Amino acid sequence: MKGQCLCGAIQVNAGDRSDIGLCHCSMCRNWGGGPFLAVHCGKEVEFTGIKPKTYQSSDWAKRGFCPECGTHLFYHLLPKDEYMLAAGLFPSQSFTITSQMYTDEKPNYYDFKNETKINMTSDDIKALFKSLFEK
Ligand SMILES: [Zn+2]
Ligand SMILES: [Zn+2]
Repeated sequence: MKGQCLCGAIQVNAGDRSDIGLCHCSMCRNWGGGPFLAVHCGKEVEFTGIKPKTYQSSDWAKRGFCPECGTHLFYHLLPKDEYMLAAGLFPSQSFTITSQMYTDEKPNYYDFKNETKINMTSDDIKALFKSLFEK
């Protein structure tokens, strides 16, 4: 699938995906003004055009955005070299929200009616990624 930022200075190519993971964590909401609609795209992601600017938001991840228009492009999980791309980059792709992360950090002022099979709290995520972060 192909996408681009709002101003078009950065284009992105990734394999076709249909699942969105919704992240309610406070960092994603602070970064984007709302929950992050993340498309897990693995390592095979190619950016063309100008270079995305990155911000290292934790020891294990960087967040990327267009330095010209500010479009949020990705969350890059460094230990696994995996990219979660912003769903909004791909206007013609058909997606379904299949998982929700950090459900315990979701504020009360919104609710998604999507029924998702995977709903993880911060404790669930800590347990899942224990091996990644405890070295
Ligand atoms: Zn841009
Ligand atoms: Zn998040």
